[in-house]
Amino acid sequence: MKRQSAMVLSILAASMQTAAWAQTDPKATEQWEPVPRIVAAGSQDNKPPSDAVVLFNGRDLSQWESSKDHSPASWKVHDGVLTVNKAGGNIQTRQRFKNYQLHLEWQVPKDIQGEGQARGNSGLFLASTGPADEGYEIQILDSWKNKTYVNGQAASVYKQTPPLVNAMRPPGEWQTYDVIWTAPVFAADGTLKSTGYVTLFHNGVLMQNHTQLAGETFYIGKPKYKPYVEAPIKLQAHGDPSQSVSFRNIWVRPLE
Ligand code: MG
Repeated sequence: MKRQSAMVLSILAASMQTAAWAQTDPKATEQWEPVPRIVAAGSQDNKPPSDAVVLFNGRDLSQWESSKDHSPASWKVHDGVLTVNKAGGNIQTRQRFKNYQLHLEWQVPKDIQGEGQARGNSGLFLASTGPADEGYEIQILDSWKNKTYVNGQAASVYKQTPPLVNAMRPPGEWQTYDVIWTAPVFAADGTLKSTGYVTLFHNGVLMQNHTQLAGETFYIGKPKYKPYVEAPIKLQAHGDPSQSVSFRNIWVRPLE
């Protein structure tokens, strides 16, 4: 009997020790699987990482089409950059996307004229849901000493959310956008299951921190959602009379 109770005690002590071990062992909270797959980082200058879909490499517009009629994109490729052809209208990717990480560089001409929204206006539509300006627009605009409504300046979610700060470089210099887009999700009957979210860095500075979107962005009227599953990424040919914006080094990494 004495021996039995001693054994019970020792088992109890051992299990208590195991519990204490779990509380003090750093290994208890280590996760080893699954191992994130290896991606070779872009070497320098925001060059595309190894698993990126390169949307514009400085040479051709094979990844792009007119958003109006799907004809070949008519914007001008020259000197390794892409310049908006305003008469040619918006262009969009031939490929469709849901969630992704995107890198894009843009430049307002050094001799830009105009003011407010009529000064280097373009736009990055995170998802295009129609042939014109339908979708979710991150504003592209010269916001270097150029006053306008703050939810319409560069790095705003257009007419919804102003950027946290203004990190605009002067006209003539290249700007970078790095975006994480979480697309809205719709049920089979078209009702909204979860909203869209965007995180945006402008020139490496945080502008939108997991910003919730209230719907598609509109020039007039309140935002609202319209169901879609996958959508192209679209660049805006804005109708203002100022000189055209240019782009370079555009790549995207679809996320699951
Ligand atoms: Mg715009």
